[in-house]
Amino acid sequence: MTSDRLLHDALIGRQGSRADLNTPVLILDREALDRNIARMAALTKAAGVALRPHAKTHKSVDIARRQLDAGAVGVCCAKIGEAEILADGGITGILITSPVAAPAAIARLAKLAARAEGLMAVVDHPAVAVRVDAALAVEGARLDVIIDIDPGIARTGVASAEAAVALAQTIDALPGLAWRGVQYYCGSQQHIESYAERRAAIIERTDYLQGVIAALADAGFAPPIVTGSGTGTHRIDLDLGVFTELQAGSYVFMDKQYLDCELAEGEAAPFEVALAVDARVVSANHSGLVTIDAGFKSLSTDGGVAAVRRGAPETAFFAFMGDEHAALIAPGIGDMLHPGDPVSLTVPHCDPTVNLYDHYHVVDGDTLIDIWPVSARGCAR
Ligand code: PLP
Ligand code: MN
Repeated sequence: MTSDRLLHDALIGRQGSRADLNTPVLILDREALDRNIARMAALTKAAGVALRPHAKTHKSVDIARRQLDAGAVGVCCAKIGEAEILADGGITGILITSPVAAPAAIARLAKLAARAEGLMAVVDHPAVAVRVDAALAVEGARLDVIIDIDPGIARTGVASAEAAVALAQTIDALPGLAWRGVQYYCGSQQHIESYAERRAAIIERTDYLQGVIAALADAGFAPPIVTGSGTGTHRIDLDLGVFTELQAGSYVFMDKQYLDCELAEGEAAPFEVALAVDARVVSANHSGLVTIDAGFKSLSTDGGVAAVRRGAPETAFFAFMGDEHAALIAPGIGDMLHPGDPVSLTVPHCDPTVNLYDHYHVVDGDTLIDIWPVSARGCAR
């Protein structure tokens, strides 16, 4: 156990202890988290739609448990490794949303199917369906599967209605597989900043989905489950009423990318920022710039830059300065802040940032109240 962990454990429950944590550190505001979880649960419930939130965002048994307790029917996982950890942590109703194709992963999927209650996985190719079926036979297990439909980004999913029907027929003929429905995740539309533009794009994509569903129904495969959606399009998808369940993930935490999006018409912030990286000034030798202890290894770099939330002017410009450092740039900031001063940041993109940390430091305001593992950290296989 690192000396930090001993130090941090000793801070749990001590008033104002957040300021004493070594930095950089991943912070989770428990009350904001619980309000976000409750809000999405209420929105989906009111629409009569199930919620199977994506756990790729948090990779946490503790958070998945809170989502199930709030009414979620299960959670989604991106990879087998995430699903194994969450299933072993007692989480049920897991849907693996990325096609599994590596032979070793298929073998693990079959083993997991034998022990994980309510497990489902997507498939997007008949050859893989046949291989999964063979692996299931070895384990004496069965698996519910969902056909992944490409929403036009050519990442994963069958590329036409004809391919969806052919795959449903293949699955139907395999003894180990039970077909349950379709998945449709419009990844390119989630971060369109304007609500009206996002809505127009999703209406167009939903027309295509409905064509695929109609073709499946004509062939005798009306899908019981239509799963998909994300934080960016949840309102639009609930309104259009085609999905039977939503897979939104980032809403639990929020990040700068999603703060920049108008998530609901006329509602400023339907979800709160529950996640932060707390950092510290480590050098302040220039009037217009201070250096903090969070760089590429502490914040994901794919989603732009972080934003100051507390401890420095919110207008300060954030600039990565390499693996370990970033600069906060603002007139006079180096005269205002000193080495050791804390700065709290809103992360650019939540999922890959969480994956950089072993633990969530859970706070209530300024007090550390718990430390939760990022249970499936790594687990990219
Ligand atoms: N479903 C799938 C298949 C995803 O890949 C993702 C995220 O990338 C989500 C759901 C969750 O979306 P979001 O984090 O935007 O809520
Ligand atoms: Mn993401």
